[in-house]
Amino acid sequence: MAPVGGKKAKRGILERLNSGEVVIGDGGFVFALEKRGYVKAGPWTPEAAVEHPEAGASIVGVNCHFDPTISLQTVKLMKEGLEAARLKAHLMSQPLAYHTPDCNKQGFIDLPEFPFGLEPRVTTRWDIQKYAREAYNLGVRYIGGCCGFEPYHIRAIAEELAPERGFLPPASEKHGSWGSGLDMHTKPWIRARARKEYWENLRIASGRPYNPSLSKPDAWGMTKGTSELMQQKEATTEQQLRELFEKQKFKSAQ
Ligand SMILES: [Zn+2]
Repeated sequence: MAPVGGKKAKRGILERLNSGEVVIGDGGFVFALEKRGYVKAGPWTPEAAVEHPEAGASIVGVNCHFDPTISLQTVKLMKEGLEAARLKAHLMSQPLAYHTPDCNKQGFIDLPEFPFGLEPRVTTRWDIQKYAREAYNLGVRYIGGCCGFEPYHIRAIAEELAPERGFLPPASEKHGSWGSGLDMHTKPWIRARARKEYWENLRIASGRPYNPSLSKPDAWGMTKGTSELMQQKEATTEQQLRELFEKQKFKSAQ
């Protein structure tokens, strides 16, 4: 989680949320490190763990595996559950920065594109501004992102919620909000894009006419207790890998 708010950052997370502050968290660095070659697939490093275990159940929410839309639907259910049980807790959401409407119950790890072919699913900064607003309206005050989130996504959250937080993030100095920096572009049709209405209403194309828009999740049906799910201490053998490759061929043909 990236601390925000200058000197206020020294206060505890609960204290900050209790005072009504909107906190923005980033848990998205694991994929970035993996893509850049700094970490290998396997058990997560301690650095990726939550920084505030003392918070316990004072904060309730979702992290990772699903896109912003699905995550907020889930938080809404949690909120209704809390209200029904007359419990009070801060709400949190840290979705993926990938669109995964087709990922099914297991989340994005079941998509055939996981983890190294997910780029076409990356959300735009405008998708994330919309997500931040919807999260805020739902009552979420710990609003962030997990895998796939890049710094410009986090900035988009901070900019969308600048009126509530009372300040813009430092990185806003690097660009004009809602594309306003395009007003100096050499091409007039690009200058015409220097406004909020343009980016807010644009239906973006994927640029991949030969690809399906949705995938079929792997759905191997392996749950806790299945032998292949066990994390081994030693490297996977050639034989074990061959068995998995065969299984994948069989499953894909189904
Ligand atoms: Zn994640």
